[in-house]
Amino acid sequence: MKVFKFGGASVKDADSIRNMAKIIDSYSPEQLFIVVSAMGKITNALEDVIKSYFYKRDDLNANWQIVKDYHFSIVKDLFSESHPVYDKVNALFSIAEKRFEQAATESFDCVYDQIVSTGELVSTTIIQQYLDSNGIPATWLDARKLIRTNDTFREGKVDWTVTPEQFKATVPSLLKKGCVVTQGFIGSAANGMTTTLGREGSDFTAAIAAFCLDAKNMTVWKDVPGILTADPRLFKNVAKLDRISFREAIEMTYYGAKVIHPKTIKPLQNKSIPLLVKSFIDPKGEGTMISENLEAAYPPVIVVERHQALIQVARMDFSFVDEESLSELFALFAHHRIKVNMMQNTAIGFSICIDNVEERIHGLLKDLREFYKVFKDNHVELITVRHYKKSIVDQLQQGKMVLLEERIRGTLKMVVKDIPIMERIDK
Ligand code: ASP
Repeated sequence: MKVFKFGGASVKDADSIRNMAKIIDSYSPEQLFIVVSAMGKITNALEDVIKSYFYKRDDLNANWQIVKDYHFSIVKDLFSESHPVYDKVNALFSIAEKRFEQAATESFDCVYDQIVSTGELVSTTIIQQYLDSNGIPATWLDARKLIRTNDTFREGKVDWTVTPEQFKATVPSLLKKGCVVTQGFIGSAANGMTTTLGREGSDFTAAIAAFCLDAKNMTVWKDVPGILTADPRLFKNVAKLDRISFREAIEMTYYGAKVIHPKTIKPLQNKSIPLLVKSFIDPKGEGTMISENLEAAYPPVIVVERHQALIQVARMDFSFVDEESLSELFALFAHHRIKVNMMQNTAIGFSICIDNVEERIHGLLKDLREFYKVFKDNHVELITVRHYKKSIVDQLQQGKMVLLEERIRGTLKMVVKDIPIMERIDK
């Protein structure tokens, strides 16, 4: 059996769903376990809904209507008026609507997971119904009955004992009847509350499934031909990598290459399950194959992470930042769930480059300021070049100020900022 993952872009409208169905059909009679994200940018739209609801803003109805209208326009395009899909989708929407009738009592992160999951539940319902109505037998499965996590909302940690048991008890018999469609991104805690695995977590769901079901391989269907040497929106002369090793993929995704979620690789590597990244626009294309033991000579691969913040701290009395202060600092980062993308220390200072996420940074800065002088530089970028060459680094540094730099074996990382263009003063 094989595991497929379809992300938001591959199911963003009715035509995309028709295209997805064609791809699935072309694999018949292969047993397919299919993991699907929320449609298009619906997770972002649901985040607006959640904030409106939690903070009791008056744009809740308007934001919710955007989510409903989006789905119903796709449903109308795909199905006849009397199709049972309408009742199913309405039933899912009414679960959230019941919630909206009362003020939120749980934490923001908990409320977030209960509502954001609507995106995946609705998308998989529409897709399973479409497949089934078009001669492709498909069963809908609730991923919350498969993936058990702890109760860290928005970043649930997978329980690797219960989860494989739940997969093995349910999925193999269903696969005998046709394909199985389930939600990416979501799971549930032991008390039944919905949890999520972190934004873009559907790739990870598919890898968990591949691991638990001993899949032959896993395919992530994307809008790019495979893994590229850089983001084609930012660079010219970008090439596709035909094959890369698990290790290379882990390094690349860790440094922010957005092609696959960083947690995806480990479960696959543990069981030597190859991962394919293929294009849903050109499904016959070879894509990129990620597998074990590839001693290839790789070309330079560039990863640019925007929306970064550089935070520099120094002790109020300018004493050394010693091991004790470092461990205090890291305890604070862990407490505020800050992922350190790059760090460097000097005698009296310590610098970190992190994602510039206002909600997280706000709390961290408040705590830091009790003991440290804090400097924050917004609008910096983190550039990572694997297998770097001097010529490429020179090009990347043009017009930029390098604030931090680190070279470890073949990898160069730098935090940069645009050099402001001085206005010419004419006489
Ligand atoms: N729908 C979720 C998100 O946009 C999960 C995913 O698509 O991977 O983050």
